[in-house]
Amino acid sequence: MKGFDFVAPKTINEVLNTAKKSKKVKFIAGGTNFLPELRHQHDGPADVVIDLMRVNALRGVNVSKKTTSLGALTTITDLIENKDLKKNAPILGAMGAKFAGPVIRNRATVAGNIIDGGPAADAIPPLLALRATVTLAGPRGKRTVALDKFLLDYRKTDIKKGELITRISFPTPPKNHKWGYYKLARRNAMAITVVGVAVLLEISGKTIKKASISLGSVNACPIRCYEAEKMLEGQKADAKLIQEASELCKKAATPIDDIRASAKYRKLMCEVLPRRLLSQALNIQMEK
Ligand SMILES: Cc1cc2nc3c(=O)[nH]c(=O)nc-3n(C[C@H](O)[C@H](O)[C@H](O)COP(=O)(O)OP(=O)(O)OC[C@H]3O[C@@H](n4cnc5c(N)ncnc54)[C@H](O)[C@@H]3O)c2cc1C
Repeated sequence: MKGFDFVAPKTINEVLNTAKKSKKVKFIAGGTNFLPELRHQHDGPADVVIDLMRVNALRGVNVSKKTTSLGALTTITDLIENKDLKKNAPILGAMGAKFAGPVIRNRATVAGNIIDGGPAADAIPPLLALRATVTLAGPRGKRTVALDKFLLDYRKTDIKKGELITRISFPTPPKNHKWGYYKLARRNAMAITVVGVAVLLEISGKTIKKASISLGSVNACPIRCYEAEKMLEGQKADAKLIQEASELCKKAATPIDDIRASAKYRKLMCEVLPRRLLSQALNIQMEK
């Protein structure tokens, strides 16, 4: 394999300056995607590989009443173990518990998963349901983009040359919010998702004030089900409404056949799983 330089800066400015000077640059965080890919890259991954792991400004989970912010280097294990997240955004830990196995979870970062951008990137559906934004730093300064706009297509994001993700943020859900997460896969651990579903609801009395539903592994990249969300918001929850919203989730999915499942099965699960998560979250019995 062609050789490459490896640098490990300590600040975001050093990262950006190094990136500016080189023609072809690649960042590495946990390395859980980078290293398996490296084996197939006979021309080398880049001229310079920049290790982000020593940049302290990319670390830390901050939870305030209004906003929660995750440093780009937040690992999947952090999502499971962080006490503030457990209390305020438990959907992230529920996803983390189904992500790979402990060894990978200890290394894999949230930003690395977003840049993966693939249909089965598991951290994305709950972050979409939390209506997360991505903050980036680059040669032209800082910018913040909504995660659903940042994901463009199959493994394609809106990241520009020389940019890195610095933080991922979302409005801290109210204490009484309801949520559900399900990773359907062929086994319980170390499995690629067949269908991933995340649901987050804000309720006032019996009325759904805010609804977020997202799906993974059934489109080119994970998506929000905008039409189903719109149908739920402002309505009093009942079995009929849940059924109709779940049918809209199914409509939003455009899955493919692959070795893990047929498109037909995936499509069906895009109705079954949102219905199950919504009825559980809202404590409504569905008619048989
Ligand atoms: C055995 C195994 C099991 C796995 N299981 C799962 C699973 O269950 N679910 C799942 O979703 N994924 C899984 N993965 C994939 C992988 O672990 C995740 O996508 C992980 O989150 C990638 O993060 P990382 O920090 O390791 O990224 P890296 O490998 O370090 O980097 C991946 C890409 O992201 C870029 N990048 C990283 N950080 C930044 C940043 N801050 N700004 C800009 N670019 C950045 C890198 O340049 C690189 O292109 C698995 C991988 C393996 C090897």
